[in-house]
Amino acid sequence: MAKVHDLLAAGPTLSFEFWPPRNRETFARTLSALAPLAPDFVSVTYGAAGSTRDRTHELVIELLRTSSLLPVAHLCCAAQRRADLVETLDRYRAEGIDNILALRGDPPLDHDGALPEGDLRYAAELVELVRGVGDFSVGVAVHPEGHPDSKGALESDLGHAAAKLGAADYAITQFFFRVEDYLRLVDGLEARGVEKPVVPGIMPIDRIGQVARMAEMAGTTFPPDLAARLEAAREIPGDVASIGIEVATELGQKLQAEDVPGLHFYTMNRATSVSTVCANLGLGPRPTSST
Ligand SMILES: Cc1cc2nc3c(=O)[nH]c(=O)nc-3n(C[C@H](O)[C@H](O)[C@H](O)COP(=O)(O)OP(=O)(O)OC[C@H]3O[C@@H](n4cnc5c(N)ncnc54)[C@H](O)[C@@H]3O)c2cc1C
Repeated sequence: MAKVHDLLAAGPTLSFEFWPPRNRETFARTLSALAPLAPDFVSVTYGAAGSTRDRTHELVIELLRTSSLLPVAHLCCAAQRRADLVETLDRYRAEGIDNILALRGDPPLDHDGALPEGDLRYAAELVELVRGVGDFSVGVAVHPEGHPDSKGALESDLGHAAAKLGAADYAITQFFFRVEDYLRLVDGLEARGVEKPVVPGIMPIDRIGQVARMAEMAGTTFPPDLAARLEAAREIPGDVASIGIEVATELGQKLQAEDVPGLHFYTMNRATSVSTVCANLGLGPRPTSST
């Protein structure tokens, strides 16, 4: 099976994130709308504390067996026992899954209070665990504006991100709206001697409330002028999504001009905005050779 770090070396890549759906019919429609764009890989989220453990595993295996898509399995160490993580990784290895995104994880949005302690504290420890279990291609998460837990201590957050990425193969960023935040992060990692691919994550906004909540949780600045524009468009059907498409297209164009290693789209399991942005950016099936 292909490994994401090899695809990135041949890049630029196109990739999509999905979460294990509750409604399989709607999800099947999303997949059939996005699969023709021939993404290099698709990633499947994992609910911290193992809340989607089986559903993540099922979807990853289903994508591997029944589609031409290359699945990347997210795995979170928060509130997990080491033995359970190893068991999950062993199952993936046995099924032929070679690509893992190693994360700490967050409590789900509807979870009250803190998660119970797990055996591993930080994602970097999970990277080490994954390396010990098998020959996986290992990605990690990075945060262009610093992780919210770091409460503005950007230097130490960047140091932790550099150490984690140094041990992994590539990173995917949290979503962001200002290209300079991404560039500052990449410069900071390079200044610390880490030059592995950092794939920017883009989230086309199609619902204001949901993205505002996620931005707050992720430590992503929701630019006030964008928030005001979206607020003014709230009551007009389709307007929020059109603004979201325009903003994501502009961000994608600026990132393409910076020769980024790939573009990763947070799909929220919806296809329309993402496929329009991809079309605007000229992303889609690679031309096949005529020979
Ligand atoms: C691409 C992507 C995919 C994601 N997928 C999921 C998913 O599937 N499920 C989910 O629940 N969440 C997911 N998340 C969210 C992610 O789990 C959260 O951002 C989480 O809060 C932190 O995860 P991390 O892997 O960056 O953690 P870590 O790298 O462990 O960092 C967390 C905090 O700890 C600090 N830190 C790290 N190492 C040390 C150290 N040695 N000493 C002191 N402090 C340290 C960091 O600076 C940071 O503030 C994803 C995020 C991204 C960007």
